Amino acid sequence: MPPALRGLLLYGGLSNAQAEFLLKNSGIQDRTEPTIVPRPKHNVSRDEISNNALKVLYRLNKAGYQAFLVGGSVRDALLGLHPKDFDVGTDALPEEVKALFGNCRLIGRRFRLAHVRFGQEIIEVATFRAASNGEESQADVAHDTHGRILRDNVYGSIDEDVWRRDFTCNALYYNIADFSIWDYVGGFEDIQKRRIVMIGDPVHRLREDPVRMLRAIRFAAKLDFDIDASVVSAMAKLKDLLSNVPPARLFDEFLKMFQAGHAKKTFELLWKHHLFGKLFPETDHELEQDQNFGRFVQAALINTDKRVAQDKSVTPMFLLGVFLWAPIKRVAGILREREKMSESQALGIAAYDVAGMQQSRISIPRRFTAPMREMLALQPRFETNKGRRALNLLEHKRFRAAYDFMMLRAEVGDFDRELADFWTEVQNQNAEQRLASFEISAKGQPGKRRRKPRRRGSRKKDR
Ligand code: ATP
Ligand code: MG
Repeated sequence: MPPALRGLLLYGGLSNAQAEFLLKNSGIQDRTEPTIVPRPKHNVSRDEISNNALKVLYRLNKAGYQAFLVGGSVRDALLGLHPKDFDVGTDALPEEVKALFGNCRLIGRRFRLAHVRFGQEIIEVATFRAASNGEESQADVAHDTHGRILRDNVYGSIDEDVWRRDFTCNALYYNIADFSIWDYVGGFEDIQKRRIVMIGDPVHRLREDPVRMLRAIRFAAKLDFDIDASVVSAMAKLKDLLSNVPPARLFDEFLKMFQAGHAKKTFELLWKHHLFGKLFPETDHELEQDQNFGRFVQAALINTDKRVAQDKSVTPMFLLGVFLWAPIKRVAGILREREKMSESQALGIAAYDVAGMQQSRISIPRRFTAPMREMLALQPRFETNKGRRALNLLEHKRFRAAYDFMMLRAEVGDFDRELADFWTEVQNQNAEQRLASFEISAKGQPGKRRRKPRRRGSRKKDR
């Protein structure tokens, strides 16, 4: 079934206000009808939906509201990908949702959302919203000078909600009333054909929210989909708009792009579409000139994906340290030439400076920059493997991260292989073996002379 006229007008690149104007003046009643895919014709089974999400859906439905599973969970379930994150769409207002669930909190400034909490799991319930038609009060909708939506909170019906979503594959609604899927935009077919297609005119939709460029890349990487040519060409035209996106939002997106198990593919696509430099300009610059650094970044991305696949923890500070390593080393080199300081000190200060520059693009919370600096400043300490100070490195609270980082460097020839193996072996040794490995005699360290005891009163003279 073709999308309704309003949708078609939006597809054609008209703004919402223009579409609305035409519809009002044409006298045509515009009713959007979805294609409904009944349960026997699709493979989304309730076994794939978390019990908590089902509870929320059923309770909304029982209270007389519409209740749909929407977005990524429907898409992933259709692809057999076992969704973990469940978003619910409903015609109940946030306050009405709150009234139904004791364990519910209303959050969000940009969008008012209900979070229904079950222990660790949060089910996000969003009231259907309409695209702005220019008649709402200034308080409800706001754009910046590039057309970016700053805030929109106009409630609507499901057939209005759908046009606000980004890609057709993300705009399917699973109806808990009869387990059918409602498709207004051809998302069902696009999922079968494995393609990322923008709802509406890509140029207009990317201007509204440039983060959609990163989302296109992220979904293409995760789902192994092709990005539709019209989206690719709009991205090429509008990539500079990413610099208008608040750095805090880009940090959230950074986490989603690089910690979801598809970091390598995501990086390759960002690079291919010239978007990586918009996020990490200093890294981009170094990558252009240094192939070894490229191999290092690639090894780290592969390693991150492996860890995610094994359900091991990943911290964003590690990959941030990897991306910023070459720029930090460069600045540290300059610092060491100019001022007398140890390599560790120089790396620490350079890490501070480079992370500071990076903040203007992607704001990295201090809880990640501080350990990143420590991890990088520890690197020179792996170069010495004799004596107590070297032994003490094993007890440092950043040892593990710093060691993993050093191992990656060794993997691409940026650190001595034998020395790297030494650090691997000593971790499995007992205290006595370690003393021998680090050549520490019971009395003291080799090669270090005992300090003469100070004479009484000498401290005063020293001043
Ligand atoms: P995943 O959870 O795997 O990251 P998702 O598709 O569920 O993927 P979310 O960020 O959780 O992504 O968003 C849920 C849904 O909200 C999306 O599927 C999409 O329909 C809509 N959406 C989210 N962000 C945007 C955006 N920036 N522009 C338009 N629609 C969006
Ligand atoms: Mg989601």
